[in-house]
Amino acid sequence: MTLPAPQYDKAAVGAILEMVKDPEIPVLTVEDMGIIRDVDIEGEKVIVSITPTYSGCPAMEHISNDISTTLKLHGYGDVEIKTVLSPAWSSDMITERGRERMREYGIAPPSDVGSKGAMLGIDPVSCPQCGSQNTSIVSEFGSTACKALYKCNDCMEPFDYFKCV
Ligand SMILES: [Zn+2]
Repeated sequence: MTLPAPQYDKAAVGAILEMVKDPEIPVLTVEDMGIIRDVDIEGEKVIVSITPTYSGCPAMEHISNDISTTLKLHGYGDVEIKTVLSPAWSSDMITERGRERMREYGIAPPSDVGSKGAMLGIDPVSCPQCGSQNTSIVSEFGSTACKALYKCNDCMEPFDYFKCV
């Protein structure tokens, strides 16, 4: 079986980027995370602009490798990954679909006021299992540095809160 010839348009490239998952939360694509800033096509060259989710995130190198490997596997020979630092990524860039997928996965998505507000107790973190806001923080560090461990005081389930902004 041979792969179809690569199509040099944004929609075709976008469909392939849908296959690239966030290494920390495998149910989310890099699109869901709002990491992909732009896709440019210049002749047969594909330029993907990405924004790091937070400074020093070790996952970013992994993500940029994944993007170029996935595109190359689909026949795009000339791929450039550009890192765009401004405007900086914020959790607001996580798409609605991304937030929904996080909840289904059992992770509370970042609140709209930002995780700092949640950490200070300004905005309660909602339990992704039952929706209760009667939750408390167990540890600032969950299964990875990007998550804090919370516990729901109603259904008693522990859950991760995605705290990186
Ligand atoms: Zn609950």
